[in-house]
Amino acid sequence: MIRKTRLFTPGPTPLLPAAQFAMAAADIHHRTAEFRALYLRVLAQLKDFVGTTNDVILLSSSGTGAMEASVSNLTSPGDRVLVLAAGKFGERWSGIAKAFGCHVDVVSAPYGQTFSLDEVAASLHLETRAVFMQATETSTGVRHCVPAIAKLLKDTQSEALLIVDAITGLGTTHLDMDSWGVDVLVGGSQKAVMIPPGLSYLAISDRAWDRMEATYNPRYYFDLRKERKNARLGESAYTPAVSLIAALGAAFDWIAAQAATPENPAGSLVEGRKLLVENAETIAAMTRAAVQALGLKLFAPDAFAAAATAILAPEGVDSGIFVKELKSRFGVIITNGQGEMKGKLFRIAHLGFFDYMDTIALIGAIEQVVVKSLPQLGAKFGDGLIAAQQLYADRSPTAAADNKCLCGRAKGHCSLTDSAAK
Ligand SMILES: *Cc1c(COP(=O)(O)O)cnc(C)c1O
Repeated sequence: MIRKTRLFTPGPTPLLPAAQFAMAAADIHHRTAEFRALYLRVLAQLKDFVGTTNDVILLSSSGTGAMEASVSNLTSPGDRVLVLAAGKFGERWSGIAKAFGCHVDVVSAPYGQTFSLDEVAASLHLETRAVFMQATETSTGVRHCVPAIAKLLKDTQSEALLIVDAITGLGTTHLDMDSWGVDVLVGGSQKAVMIPPGLSYLAISDRAWDRMEATYNPRYYFDLRKERKNARLGESAYTPAVSLIAALGAAFDWIAAQAATPENPAGSLVEGRKLLVENAETIAAMTRAAVQALGLKLFAPDAFAAAATAILAPEGVDSGIFVKELKSRFGVIITNGQGEMKGKLFRIAHLGFFDYMDTIALIGAIEQVVVKSLPQLGAKFGDGLIAAQQLYADRSPTAAADNKCLCGRAKGHCSLTDSAAK
């Protein structure tokens, strides 16, 4: 058998061919009219993709660079900040904030779960200057309810800025930063926008821009105000990752074209983004149905994200068996658990350039591993596929909209708002 290598990892994700062609053709200098036209167009598209009227800033760095920029630009040494951490990426916020001299309060939740709203409320102090969280915690496959936290800050008239790492949340999760009152939303290129690593971006509210006038943590390369000044003229402060910016523009064109109609053949990026989210929701639900039908358990049975699904290995089995067998037998690259979750779970990504066909094939390959190597589960060929097929056939994303939390999760599956409703 030949094997094609296929990424099912939550970043980097599979590349969009149209973006790869645009990248290869992007032989342009960054201080030219040609680049300025490209940059201004991509920045405008980025606003539509994020779904905001706020200014957006594009940086040449991996996602963590934009996380760091939001700490260094929005805090001063000694500032009290609150980090909501329930996984490796939440813990990264604490690390960055401490590196910049913040006094860090932490609300944590066990891996695989989300926070208690009461605990968050109790940890919010008058002096809290900023709250940091993830929209989706990629290390555990959990979606946190951003609107519930935003509402809490509003209801308590908190001065704290809400800064959200939506690096795997964008393109997989309904996010409405302007109406919810999120101050900073962070994204990265190697996730749902289907291009290689190397770009990060931030959408920033007026309140956060105002805060930057008074904060004084050190910053130089990641000086957001300097970038904003340059971006308004179609330039970046330093040499940008030109080829990736060209790729991002092509990816946005493609996402928009997914929503093309006879009247509007170029489509709409706003509508295309909704389709991308719906796509991730659907294939995530197919994956959850399939692995459970095969006798496997979800790591986050209540708080699951559409960005990636974390699946527990059976008792006494190292989850590495899935990573190894899928790669050696089928060329499929998935990820193990991170840190202390390694060996306990494996993760399958749904963000970006995955479709029904990819998902069905992957479920088939997982069935091969389960039936051949884990006979104790008692699964047989077809169990996972039937469950996924049935889910796909029955799924009607719009019909269920009334019964959803603002974060997009079904009522009864969003513990943050469910606990608030009690
Ligand atoms: C991928 C990812 C990041 C950023 O990681 P980089 O390696 O710096 O791009 C941050 N947060 C989350 C939730 C992620 O999934």
